[in-house]
Amino acid sequence: MITLLFASPKDWPDYQTALPQALAQAGIAARIIHDAPSDAAQVDYIIYAPSSPLQDFTPFAGCKAVLSLWAGVERIVGNATLTQPLCRMVEDGLTEGMVEWVVGHVMRHHLGLDAHIVNPGRDWRPVPPPLARDRQVAMLGMGALGAACARALAGLNFNVTGWSRTGGQVGGIAVQSGKDGLRDVLATADFIVTLLPKTPETENLLNGETLAFAKRGAFLLNPGRGALIDDTALLAALDTGQIAHATLDVFRTEPLPKDHPFWAHPHITITPHIAADTRATGAARALVENIRRGEAGEMLLHRVDRARGY
Ligand code: NAP
Repeated sequence: MITLLFASPKDWPDYQTALPQALAQAGIAARIIHDAPSDAAQVDYIIYAPSSPLQDFTPFAGCKAVLSLWAGVERIVGNATLTQPLCRMVEDGLTEGMVEWVVGHVMRHHLGLDAHIVNPGRDWRPVPPPLARDRQVAMLGMGALGAACARALAGLNFNVTGWSRTGGQVGGIAVQSGKDGLRDVLATADFIVTLLPKTPETENLLNGETLAFAKRGAFLLNPGRGALIDDTALLAALDTGQIAHATLDVFRTEPLPKDHPFWAHPHITITPHIAADTRATGAARALVENIRRGEAGEMLLHRVDRARGY
């Protein structure tokens, strides 16, 4: 019998059925606790959200892994007391949600839907949209989420080029890297999608200099992290038309403060960090698969590299 500490009280109602079910399906006998026992060293795995009250991992000497309920781990990756392996969340529901959000918001701008949805003058404006095959997408970040979005857009005939730390090819999509690669992918993109983690290297990646690399009038979608973009530089790029419109799901401060200039900008659409949510059923299966692997001595999936920060 293993001991699991479920350390995110606010998430427990979603998992109280799904997690025991997934454990039973995998044939894993587990005791699920919510507070560290008197002997914290008994805890085998910690299921964790970066918003959890637990911040000191020192007492959990026997813990084999900390399994995050979130895909983004920037709030915990630098915690010096966390010496156990840390795994981030990758699960189908999260990925599908992100694909739907990205495809939906790309299609809004690709098809020019705004002009038809809000048309108080009843203007008959027959401007047929170009085909996806004539549009270029830059997918910045080609990990679990970026690659899935890139594949979905390529499946609709968009020309997609990726950009990542290591570059290469992902599922038949060419991926550039480095600053020159970034300049190249931005220079031709009609749509720029940022699905990068927040790390010291990616913070303010889109700034005055790099936004100037973009093709004039590009649409920007940021479902990654707010800190990827320099807010002031984005506002300036929107004001000059360098960026036609920004659809933002994530912000440096969340909820976005009511007096933030993004709210009032006519070329910014704000969604309140809803692009992709972890779904308990799939997430419980993903957590249990890593617990099974841990118990079988197999390699854990989606392990965070502390040095890289993601
Ligand atoms: P992932 O699988 O870890 O992929 C990260 C991607 O970013 C990889 O392609 C990686 O390059 C690239 N990258 C990292 N550092 C880089 C750098 N310095 N320069 C260039 N590329 C770099 O992450 P994921 O699961 O796709 O998630 C991506 C992010 O989405 C998360 O970190 C989180 O912030 C965000 N997210 C948002 C929501 C939401 O609801 N808005 C939900 C979930 C996640 P390599 O391939 O070369 O390693």
